[in-house]
Amino acid sequence: MQGLRAAGGHVPPIDLSTTNALADVEVGGLSYEELATGHDLGAGRSAVYQRLWQPGVARFEEALADLEGTEAAVAFASGMAALSACLIAITSAGTPHVVAVRPLYGGTDHVLETGLLGTEVSWADADDVARHVRPDTGLVVIETPANPTLELVDIAAVVAQAGDVPVLVDNTFATPVLQQPARLGATLVLHSATKYLGGHGDVMGGVVAAPQRWVERLRQVRALTGGLLHPFAAYMLHRGLRTLPVRVRAQQQTAGVLAERLGRHPAVARVLYPGLPGQDPAGLLGRQFEGPGSILAIELVGGYRAAAMVAESCDLITHAVSLGGVDTLIQHPASLTHRPVVAAAKPGAGIVRLSVGLEHVDDLTDDLTRALDRVIADSHASELIGVG
Ligand SMILES: *Cc1c(COP(=O)(O)O)cnc(C)c1O
Repeated sequence: MQGLRAAGGHVPPIDLSTTNALADVEVGGLSYEELATGHDLGAGRSAVYQRLWQPGVARFEEALADLEGTEAAVAFASGMAALSACLIAITSAGTPHVVAVRPLYGGTDHVLETGLLGTEVSWADADDVARHVRPDTGLVVIETPANPTLELVDIAAVVAQAGDVPVLVDNTFATPVLQQPARLGATLVLHSATKYLGGHGDVMGGVVAAPQRWVERLRQVRALTGGLLHPFAAYMLHRGLRTLPVRVRAQQQTAGVLAERLGRHPAVARVLYPGLPGQDPAGLLGRQFEGPGSILAIELVGGYRAAAMVAESCDLITHAVSLGGVDTLIQHPASLTHRPVVAAAKPGAGIVRLSVGLEHVDDLTDDLTRALDRVIADSHASELIGVG
């Protein structure tokens, strides 16, 4: 940013060049070789080609690495592209076995369960990871808070069990504002940047924060498979980071109030939110996870029918997949994000997940109360006509 100021600018520029002028043949060749093997853009080198190096992408990566406390980071076209690069990196290194703890994001579960990228998965409980580690294990994969149950997993305890095997933590729900897994021993910290980092529901991206040796492998995978972040997306994500702490804390505050209010409604069996009494048995709040975040799930007394009705009856709140933006979204995980997940690991049919945004907490309460009241009215009507 120093150079920018010197040039009289205030915000970073968006450079859309797909290719870059080369000083001479020698510089071109050396630059190409270094970047294609995952090294940094050295002094006196050319960025060569956008698939190898892009200045706006590098700015976002550097900022994210700072936030996560890692040596560097590598950005991708989406969270799934970021995960794919990690999986390709381990299969190509001859360690294709993954130990993973459920529940995970539906897409992550699906790509591991199908072995689409040549990995083989062992599903483990968080306290039983060590037993599943083998000589060909390349990665342990966890997510905390979990999606959509909001259970917390003890990162340091999993790292201790993994021994020499690198642990990947999906930090999408927590954000680096509330949790920095690398400081607890995780090797790879993955984000769907589409969610909180962007924060406005208008940009897709993914990023992995990691030590330099991993960053080089991941850049090489990116250069050779092409799951690139577009420079405009990089600009948007970098801009999103500027308001990230303010958004995360404000959304969290609203979520805490909502969690408490919703729990009192007769249509609600329970609210899943780490900030509620009894929902953090390992005492990770304040230790690993600064605060409970702004995602919560509610389990309806009336099961699937009631959950569907609540999701479809909200007005201010949009019925849509995704999370982490300034607008509150509601969705039904069992039929949507967790549809491909095997039955035994699927979330309950009566659960809806809320990603709480920046609207006024009373407006959100009113919207949800109207939807929940409809469920109660419907169940009374069903009883009167003898169905349900
Ligand atoms: C959305 C999401 C992903 C996948 O990210 P995309 O950007 O949609 O590819 C991975 N993990 C979690 C926790 C997510 O919420």
